[in-house]
Amino acid sequence: MTSVQTIKENNHYDAVLVGAGIMSGTLALLLAEVLPDIKILIIEKLNSPGSESTGAFNNAGTGHAANCELNYTPIDEKGNIIIDKALSINRSFENSMSLWASLYAAGKIDIKKFLKFIPHISFVSGKENISFLKKRYQAMANNPEFKDMEFTSSFGQISSWASLITKDRNPLNEIAATRVERGTDINFEALTKEYLSFVSKNKNVELRYKTELKDLKKIDQKQWELELSLNGRKISVRTAFVFLGAGGKTINYLQKSKIPEANNYGGFPVSGKWLICEEKSLTEKHNAKVYGKADIGSPPMSVPHLDTRWIDGKRLLLFGPFAGFTTKFLKEGSYFDLFNSIKKNNIVSMLDVGFKNNDLINYLISQSLKNHNSRVDNLKNMMPSADPSNWYLKNAGQRVQIIKKTNKGGSLKFGTEIVTSSDGSLSALLGASPGASTAVSIMVKVLTRSCLFLNDKINLQKKINDLIYQSHLTYESDKDFLINIKKINNSILGFHREF
Ligand SMILES: Cc1cc2nc3c(=O)[nH]c(=O)nc-3n(C[C@H](O)[C@H](O)[C@H](O)COP(=O)(O)OP(=O)(O)OC[C@H]3O[C@@H](n4cnc5c(N)ncnc54)[C@H](O)[C@@H]3O)c2cc1C
Repeated sequence: MTSVQTIKENNHYDAVLVGAGIMSGTLALLLAEVLPDIKILIIEKLNSPGSESTGAFNNAGTGHAANCELNYTPIDEKGNIIIDKALSINRSFENSMSLWASLYAAGKIDIKKFLKFIPHISFVSGKENISFLKKRYQAMANNPEFKDMEFTSSFGQISSWASLITKDRNPLNEIAATRVERGTDINFEALTKEYLSFVSKNKNVELRYKTELKDLKKIDQKQWELELSLNGRKISVRTAFVFLGAGGKTINYLQKSKIPEANNYGGFPVSGKWLICEEKSLTEKHNAKVYGKADIGSPPMSVPHLDTRWIDGKRLLLFGPFAGFTTKFLKEGSYFDLFNSIKKNNIVSMLDVGFKNNDLINYLISQSLKNHNSRVDNLKNMMPSADPSNWYLKNAGQRVQIIKKTNKGGSLKFGTEIVTSSDGSLSALLGASPGASTAVSIMVKVLTRSCLFLNDKINLQKKINDLIYQSHLTYESDKDFLINIKKINNSILGFHREF
């Protein structure tokens, strides 16, 4: 990765992106493609990109398309399965696939470095769960988003899809599964590196590591002044637009910005851990991401899953996540992060969320008390033949869930939220799920709400569409738009199955 220039005191930029995770990486790519003449600075406090939540081991690498994650299809009070969120996540993920296809076709990034196709499976046991899964399948498979979803309650069929799930399981157990063959495993760290090494070729893009945002203030109608620490040396830069993509720490900088929109938010950190297996005789037998059902009372991001992963050229099995609690907002953060985020305008909502979420607190305590054998016992619900000696524990990344002020106090949110100042000069990304997979859709929103877009909205929106959907490729009709896009993406990205 090259740094093009040296930051000079009071240097002026059109855009400064804070953090070099998947979010800033995606925004940098979009900006450099759509507005190639603007001056962009990307700063990262660590010495490499994608090392926090975006790090390959710090997340599950699931290309979240709602193929298998049962928490994206909740049941309402009448017992109906609500699939709206799943449809929207599927479409958002397809935007990511479209951008990758477009950049790959143009020779700008190498998809082999970060993308693998792998079946996505939902797996449940017991009558009630099987009935839920069947209803969910019936509600989803009629839509073009999930046209290729399969359902089975046959032990033999599940065994052929994922033999580790059935090995040593009583064949009389009632189990069921759905499968979408066109699932993905994504190395978001490698993807971020691909984006950043491509944008670094643009002479207007400056990328600085070991450079930390310390403070920021709006100095006039058109400019922010950012105080940075560069290898311990303080400098300041000015910019028309700031993107706060500092992962879990974003909330702290959003508060420092003093924009009124920041007053509504607080953060609640949840750490994660994986069980990892490198034993070849097992890793070679599993070729899927298998998502189960979260325990009652557990937060949605704790859905247990057994995944095939490819990291640093190695094929691995990963199971988890197991949750934990720390007051840090980043893995490389400070234990004061949580306390520093408590302000007089969010303390009521934070306390309210603490009082109302006993289930979550109890869940985090019970997860923190687990030892190796009790974690493997959890794994055995999915993989009955699991042997503790084949698995070791590894820390995952930090999530900071959003706490949002409401009329009645506060509520805990498990999604992502973009906070933008009224003049479009600052945007911040809060929250974690569905996260990296939908970064393209999220960053398109950040870009179109920004002041950089103000004077030329129509033309710039067209440029974005051309970039993502390769407008030289024609589509049959609106109704078939998604199917056509999936076909085009399949052929460029190398998924060979009639869709
Ligand atoms: C356990 C777990 C599992 C997950 N699984 C999935 C999954 O399967 N699929 C999926 O799509 N998403 C998943 N996610 C979510 C996904 O990892 C995140 O949404 C995504 O990585 C967030 O990217 P980001 O760029 O916002 O933040 P980060 O990757 O955290 O990047 C923020 C960057 O900002 C830098 N930074 C912080 N403060 C400063 C500062 N003051 N100055 C300069 N730089 C700074 C940090 O060093 C870091 O590099 C998972 C997350 C976790 C924790």
